[in-house]
Amino acid sequence: MNGTDATVKRWDENSDQFQLVAGEGRLLRKEVSLLKTMTCKQLGGPCDFVLHGISADEVIKAQDSHLQEMVATGDETHQGALKDMKGRWKNPISGMSWYRKTKRDFAALSDD
Ligand SMILES: [Zn+2]
Repeated sequence: MNGTDATVKRWDENSDQFQLVAGEGRLLRKEVSLLKTMTCKQLGGPCDFVLHGISADEVIKAQDSHLQEMVATGDETHQGALKDMKGRWKNPISGMSWYRKTKRDFAALSDD
């Protein structure tokens, strides 16, 4: 009955996948309603790339990966901002004031 087992396994896999997608869809809809937008510039970067997040931490994380992606593609205008961003994690005092300001800016935004 190996053939039958294989069929059952495939069906289960598809069903898991469907549940996963449905679950992510719900999560996405919930997050979209709370999303706020900041730009690369607002976070100290050089361009108007739009970042979305439900918290300042998420937007900062998005900016961090945006900076890394841009620099990885050879963009020189983002190198300084990436250096600043990395420096913030190493320098808790100046990093913290930037972080607080970003959180304040984020809190002052209205939802999208
Ligand atoms: Zn940028």
